[in-house]
Amino acid sequence: MRDPRYDFAGKNVLVMGLGRFGGGVDVARFAASSGAKVIVTDLASRQQLNDSIKKLESRCIGTDIEFHLGSHSPADFQHADIIVVNPAVPGDNEFLKLARRHNKFITSQINIFFQLCPAPIIGITGTNGKSTTAALTAHLLRSASDERRASSIEKVWLSGNIGNEPLLTVVDQISPDDLVVLELSSFQTEQLAHIQKAPKVALLTNLTPNHLDRYGTFAGYCAAKENIFKFQNLDRNCPAVSIFNAEDKVAAKWLEKYRKDAGRICIKFSTDDVSEEIRDSFTLLGRANLSNLAAAVAIARHFGIDDNQLKTSLSQFKPLPHRLELVARIDGVSWYNDSKATTPESAIAALEAFEQPVVIIAGGYDKNVAFDELGQKIAENARAAILLGQTAERIADAIKASPKNQTRIELVNSLAEAVQLANRLTVSDDVVLLSPACASYDMFDNFQHRGREFTRLVRRIGD
Ligand code: ADP
Repeated sequence: MRDPRYDFAGKNVLVMGLGRFGGGVDVARFAASSGAKVIVTDLASRQQLNDSIKKLESRCIGTDIEFHLGSHSPADFQHADIIVVNPAVPGDNEFLKLARRHNKFITSQINIFFQLCPAPIIGITGTNGKSTTAALTAHLLRSASDERRASSIEKVWLSGNIGNEPLLTVVDQISPDDLVVLELSSFQTEQLAHIQKAPKVALLTNLTPNHLDRYGTFAGYCAAKENIFKFQNLDRNCPAVSIFNAEDKVAAKWLEKYRKDAGRICIKFSTDDVSEEIRDSFTLLGRANLSNLAAAVAIARHFGIDDNQLKTSLSQFKPLPHRLELVARIDGVSWYNDSKATTPESAIAALEAFEQPVVIIAGGYDKNVAFDELGQKIAENARAAILLGQTAERIADAIKASPKNQTRIELVNSLAEAVQLANRLTVSDDVVLLSPACASYDMFDNFQHRGREFTRLVRRIGD
């Protein structure tokens, strides 16, 4: 039975956090089209939110949405029946505390979706490789659903950080025979605790310290991620499926913890499960992508897809933009855009993907994570490191701390300077790799903006 608190018609709904990139657009549109009276509030100004406001207004023609921008007002939180919180807002926010004191119903886009989605959800979380694994999983399941003979899957939906289906906008079109592949961030899995629900099929790619600026400790971050397993519905007639990476320390521990549960099928995956033949059909670079492949293959096999089907559909899979994406080959030098590498491990994974000398461009917003291992890896694998952003000096120190260090270290002030310098430092057969190991917010709007800017600068070389 549907929870009556999710009937939005006639209610006062406050959307907290529209976001400059439209994170709140989907839920504000959904609330307005369900007949709610909607107020959108955000700390950013109208000017900063202009693109999101336009997007929202174009999707809600004829409905009246009020915008309270530049600050939050306690009155809005007292007046609302439902408060929908953007995942970027930490749980201990003072306005949320006020709302809780007034017993307001607080929810989120992801929680509303979990309440309303009629199809099984395949949730993918982890520190690195979520988008790639989610896109690959959807690709493999889609080819099976296209073939029909091997499956009863009607349609496969994909949503997450990959810029596709906005969940609540499409929820009415999803049927019970469909499958939904969902990439979930730690902020979103954190929110699942409120509804005590989790995906029918849940997969963890890997776990290493990240977002410590929000969680304080690795344990806090792991707890947010663990919700994806903890709140799965253990029904003996229709068991939950929990999929763990046997090559990841935390995941291996969780596998032991959860494997004894009745009503739960535990599956482990590792890069060894993927045969040579399957690997040969897969074009993405590096060992980290092999782990993503093993993860997606584990899900596909669970849904009955055989190795022949896998091989055929894998050969048609292309890397996602900003993830080890070859953007140009100039005078024998290959330039890769890996702007999505926003953690040290992802930059390490990128460095490991190449055998030839690499000039790495790294650095960015400081999330308070350690760079020791990255520094060592750069010292071992990179000919030069061109560093920029808030973390430039911390990464430089980590490289210098490596006993084997021979790497040339250069600090620059802009990406344009980094690209020019990289061009001067390379010779034929080298690789230039933008793999920042950090988020982009100190200098760019987001990782896409950083990656586009890099691609533009690279393609201008030699003009
Ligand atoms: P996420 O969605 O978790 O950020 P993506 O699939 O978008 O992950 O990949 C982001 C970057 O992380 C890639 O550019 C690549 O360098 C790196 N990466 C991808 N998969 C893995 C993995 N399994 N382990 C470590 N790093 C990875």
